[in-house]
Amino acid sequence: MYDVIVVGGGVAGLFLAANLPDRKVLILDHAKSVGKKLLITGGGRANITNDLSAKEMLAHFPTKAMRNFLAPSLLSLTPSDLMNWFENRGVGLIVRADGHVFPSSLDARTIRNALLSHIHADIRTACTVAAIINEEESFTIHSSEGSFVTRSVCLATGGMSYPSTGSDGSGYALAKALGHTIVPPKPALTPIVTCEQTAHLSGISLSNVSTTHRQFTATGDLLFTRDGLSGPVILNLSRAVSKGDPVTIAVLDSSLLEENLLSFPQKRVSTIIRTLGVPASLAREICERSHLEPDRNAGTLRKEERKLLCRTAGALSYKVNTTKGFKQAMATSGGVELSEVNRKTMESRITPGLFFCGEVLDYDGESGGFNIQAACSTAYLAARTIGKRT
Ligand SMILES: Cc1cc2nc3c(=O)[nH]c(=O)nc-3n(C[C@H](O)[C@H](O)[C@H](O)COP(=O)(O)OP(=O)(O)OC[C@H]3O[C@@H](n4cnc5c(N)ncnc54)[C@H](O)[C@@H]3O)c2cc1C
Repeated sequence: MYDVIVVGGGVAGLFLAANLPDRKVLILDHAKSVGKKLLITGGGRANITNDLSAKEMLAHFPTKAMRNFLAPSLLSLTPSDLMNWFENRGVGLIVRADGHVFPSSLDARTIRNALLSHIHADIRTACTVAAIINEEESFTIHSSEGSFVTRSVCLATGGMSYPSTGSDGSGYALAKALGHTIVPPKPALTPIVTCEQTAHLSGISLSNVSTTHRQFTATGDLLFTRDGLSGPVILNLSRAVSKGDPVTIAVLDSSLLEENLLSFPQKRVSTIIRTLGVPASLAREICERSHLEPDRNAGTLRKEERKLLCRTAGALSYKVNTTKGFKQAMATSGGVELSEVNRKTMESRITPGLFFCGEVLDYDGESGGFNIQAACSTAYLAARTIGKRT
């Protein structure tokens, strides 16, 4: 009999197994290899965490329920604990100026290999789990590789984003069959497709720009794509957008632009906008949206024209058509209802002996290392509980 069978060999499942070196552990994954998603994180470099305190990190999860649920796990394995965990196992790390932490090899394989070399578990890949049967003191798992008996089970099946990596949402059915509620999954951290054309602006990136959606304003880097908007500031708000929502971008500070228009009456409007750091095609877009010829001299603008131009540059508006969906989402919003899981142990409140860790749970963090940290912290807490019990 196994002490624990982990369904899902993503970063959460692997981290859990690596923290149970003295227990009999089996990892079952239906993909051909484990850690497939981990290998594509951070552009193949794996941004494993962010150099913040646990408390600061919690602020990067969007709802109070998520912050409340994750607090005990992030406090039991803080970002600096996670960094120490890898460094103590020979993985050099670098901290970027923005706090993002990567392996110094800048290669996600370093992280996966470090995890695998500290796992003493049996691993079965290309293994489909058909059913998990809860018996009195144990569980029997029926799979394409045979049946296995275990004292406890941990579902670490991830969300639904990038389904080609193996996280296809099939873990939700296993959780549901064991009595759990699934909050409907939605793509998060995904680019936005806008109603307006953006192909002519494609490739333009704006640093540290304020972007507003509904009442919420965030600052960060933004990228125009062929059919819409992307970049961290857009990805972070994508979980909440609906068709038709306006998203406004403060390309320029309105009063700074007005000051410059008044100070340089002989200069062309487009030149003034460009001098303030806006690329030419975006400067033209702002003029067109304000019904102005870009080569008008600033001094020829009537007051209303100048005010409209400044308002447009201060809040360039786009309407959401759709998002790029799960195929390009970096996270999933929704999953196993948090109130049904004990946040201090990661054990199910409905089925004793059943545990959860990682993105299968109904949390999603911003981009910047928050999701891998949460996967490892929840896995660590589950491992600690299972380790004490068996
Ligand atoms: C392109 C991209 C880039 C990202 N970059 C970052 C980053 O730099 N930093 C960061 O913090 N986060 C990043 N993320 C998010 C992060 O990768 C995830 O939050 C994290 O991998 C979740 O880990 P997990 O173990 O819970 O799930 P996953 O990594 O998704 O692993 C789940 C595993 O379960 C297996 N599985 C699923 N269902 C079943 C089943 N029914 N039976 C058996 N096995 C099953 C899957 O095959 C998979 O191996 C990125 C995501 C993407 C898509």
